[in-house]
Amino acid sequence: MKKHIAVLTSGGDAPGMNACIRAMVLNAERAGHKISGYLRGFNGVLNDDRICLTAQRMHNLIQQGGTILHSARCESFCQPQVRQQAANNLKSAGIDTLIVMGGDGSFKGAHALKAHWDGQIIGIPGTIDNDIDQTDATIGYYTAIETAVNSIDKVRDTADAFDRVFVVEVMGRHAGFLGMSAALASASDFVLVPELFECAQTSLQQIKQQIMQRQQSRGPVSYVIVLAENLWPEGVIGLCQNVTEATGLEAKPVTLGHVQRGGSPVSQDRILAVKSGTFAIELVNTDISDIMIGIQNDTLVTVPLEKTWQKQKTLGKDARKTALHLMNQRYID
Ligand code: ATP
Repeated sequence: MKKHIAVLTSGGDAPGMNACIRAMVLNAERAGHKISGYLRGFNGVLNDDRICLTAQRMHNLIQQGGTILHSARCESFCQPQVRQQAANNLKSAGIDTLIVMGGDGSFKGAHALKAHWDGQIIGIPGTIDNDIDQTDATIGYYTAIETAVNSIDKVRDTADAFDRVFVVEVMGRHAGFLGMSAALASASDFVLVPELFECAQTSLQQIKQQIMQRQQSRGPVSYVIVLAENLWPEGVIGLCQNVTEATGLEAKPVTLGHVQRGGSPVSQDRILAVKSGTFAIELVNTDISDIMIGIQNDTLVTVPLEKTWQKQKTLGKDARKTALHLMNQRYID
């Protein structure tokens, strides 16, 4: 049966969202479905702000960062009467399937719509944080690692030249996937992510000890610390001050910020996006609804949306172990 599908991107944008939109549009058109895009997340549904998506518009899109549908927060979507308005708009527009690409907040919004609208709801994880449970990866995560690693490599060059200490702040306030992967791939000296963080005092002591040991054996050294945002009590500036006071070495802050969200998606994100988008269109005309498409052990799966935020997804034991070994610390189970 020919259906009318609508897609939106919500929450933080992530590289690979466009690749996913492209895959959905091409597959939908091939199957004879109509496909529309709501602009600026749930705001688009509320304002009935939508565009018609065609294969022709998808040319040269797979490599573009950001999202052609734009993304936005829509705080009012937490109110039932606002969601009812959105449901009314979906009904008037004749939408059969709504595909929501975003993080767990966006999935909460999509799931909450179920009480007001009986159409099909599909979630696709798109966030650089990779903090969504029940999927091994999210669209945008791999590109964000690459961006962070490239930046840290550059910081390392100048750190080496001046035997300096740098603290690089990366995104990922709830889970350390981005910080840990970036630290491992850039051979950073210390990593501070939620899963490994005990307290500021202990971490500071470890950093000081490590720097002093290295100075004793090698002379002046450079030292790069990767810090997850919102983890250190006084932020990246506070950590720099603490390190400077503790070691007598001037520590410089670098905040990568929104740079991590942008850029052309790397192949892994494009492939994940294409697979997820293709699978989403395969699900149209089935009874499967209120689910997220995830990837587990290289297999696409459907997971009830509610399950995606019930448990905090955290770094696996192997990643934590490896990081601690690299930082010369003992792993305690
Ligand atoms: P990211 O983690 O990458 O920032 P996200 O999807 O988690 O992405 P949020 O800002 O948490 O980003 O949520 C995006 C939007 O989803 C919100 O602006 C709101 O419109 C909707 N939303 C979030 N939580 C809820 C909720 N509990 N009920 C209804 N809608 C929600």
